Amino acid sequence: MMLAGLKTYIIGAGIGGLALARVLALRGADVTVLEQAGEIKEVGAGLQISPNGLAVLRAMGLEPHLVKSGAVLADTVRLMDYRGGEVLKLDL
Ligand SMILES: Cc1cc2nc3c(=O)[nH]c(=O)nc-3n(C[C@H](O)[C@H](O)[C@H](O)COP(=O)(O)OP(=O)(O)OC[C@H]3O[C@@H](n4cnc5c(N)ncnc54)[C@H](O)[C@@H]3O)c2cc1C
Repeated sequence: MMLAGLKTYIIGAGIGGLALARVLALRGADVTVLEQAGEIKEVGAGLQISPNGLAVLRAMGLEPHLVKSGAVLADTVRLMDYRGGEVLKLDL
């Protein structure tokens, strides 16, 4: 469905708001994202993206940017407790 020129406002520039903005803009909507925070900045040490999340990024045409940004493919997820002991190991 094309949304050419449809004026759209999205509240919040989190992952959900920005993903929706990208998808609507790709279909021609005129999108404005309203964010309460003073600036958009990196938070935390890293971001783990699950396979279904990657499928969505790919569908939005963003995979090449992910590769360029230095993303790496993990082969295992390991959950650790606060003493460094392994709680769970999940082979991908
Ligand atoms: C420590 C931590 C680590 C995480 N690590 C991962 C990870 O590695 N991989 C992963 O997939 N997920 C991770 N998550 C979960 C992930 O961050 C969230 O699921 C995701 O950010 C939720 O996105 P969202 O867009 O729904 O909400 P949010 O990211 O919370 O975005 C909502 C936005 O709306 C804005 N907002 C709210 N109210 C208003 C308003 N009235 N007007 C304007 N703006 C407003 C907020 O300021 C915010 O920017 C982690 C979460 C935490 C806390």
